[in-house]
Order: sequence, then structure tokens, then C-alpha cells
Amino acid sequence: MRILIVEDERDMAQVLKAGLEEENHLVSLAFDGVSGLEVARACDFDVIVLDVMLPKLDGFEVARRLRAKGNRTPILMLTARDTVPDVVKGLDLGADDYLTKPFSFAVLLARLRAASRRQDGQPTSLLRVADLVLNRATMQVFRGRREINLTATEFRLLEFLMRRPGVVVSRNAIVEAVWGFDDEVNDNTVDAFIRLVRRKIDDPDEEKLIRTVRGIGYALRANQ
Ligand code: CA
Repeated sequence: MRILIVEDERDMAQVLKAGLEEENHLVSLAFDGVSGLEVARACDFDVIVLDVMLPKLDGFEVARRLRAKGNRTPILMLTARDTVPDVVKGLDLGADDYLTKPFSFAVLLARLRAASRRQDGQPTSLLRVADLVLNRATMQVFRGRREINLTATEFRLLEFLMRRPGVVVSRNAIVEAVWGFDDEVNDNTVDAFIRLVRRKIDDPDEEKLIRTVRGIGYALRANQ
């Protein structure tokens, strides 16, 4: 995922960035509300992590202005003030979810996954790599004119790869994205599911899209 973190506590922002990058996310940082708003408007993100207490413009106002301009990027608010009125205010202004500080990194990851899943429900959800098309709204997958039936897990795995075409993703990142933290899933499970998806996506076709990157993981990309 492409994630924007707007957080004025620089140490914390850097720690979050490093942790998320380790999970193969692309992370941008902004340290106050004004620059956060600018970056959010200038680039496309899958989710915005937005602190409430920010210099220049607070998180509530950043959320309000983004939504007023039609920006639909999911917003996860970080609040140190664990009071219901604040949380309600944030949600009313367009935030999708909130997290009370201090929080564990695992919980943050789970909330980010949930936020991006909610966004996936939106109608503009066609992913395309070469002649492979995945429709997140209808849960259909086509390779050329051939419709491919995938299980829910296979679908999530393929979607995860298709959302980052050409990017090499680690088995760990795949486990995290497809199964989440709580499941007892290991590298062999990932390999097994990749084989299943390959059989359906690639085996009948000349052009193979799913690549094995030895020692690292997998990537999905077209030949050209
Ligand atoms: Ca703050």
C-alpha cells in the first residue's frame, strides 16, 4: 500500500515508516497539518494515517478539507485523547477509523488492512496487468476472455500481487496481507497458494505473469 503518515512527533513517524517499509509498504511522511494536506492532495495514497494534534492545522481540519474536496482516501486517525466526543468528531468529519495512542504496531497494521479493504469495496476497482483483469467489485477474474474461478484466499493473494505490479513482495508481506497476523501460516503455505493461483492464471497461457524471485518472494508482471 501507499501510505501517508501525518504525525508531528518525528521519532514516532520515523519508527512507523521503517516498520511499514519492512512490510513492503511505500510510506510518505508529513510533519504538520498544512504539509500533510498538500501531500495528500498531490499524490494518490491507499490510506492516510492522520494524527489529531498537529501544528498549523489539526487532524480534524485536515480530514474535513480533504473530504470537502472529494478526496475519498481512507483515513485512520491517531488520537491521544481517548474520549468519545473526539472520536465521534473525527468520524463525523470523514475519518474512517481511529486508533488511540499508544497502540501496538500489530494493531496499526490490522487497522490499515481493514481501511484498505473498505476502499476496495468502491466501484472503481478494476486491476489490470497485461490481459489479466481483476474486478474487486464483482470478485471476478479474467485472463483474456477466459473467466477464472478463485477461492477467496486465492483472490486476496492475486489482488495483493496485482495491486503492486512489478514489485517484488516477500512471503512475509504476502502472509500479512492475505492471512493477517493471527493465522498460523508459513512460507510453505504461501508457496502452495502461489502454485494454485499459477495453475489457474498462468498454466494455460503462454505469457507467464507470476515470477518467482529466488530467496525473496514473488512478483507479478507482464513481459513488456
Ligand atoms: Ca501530535
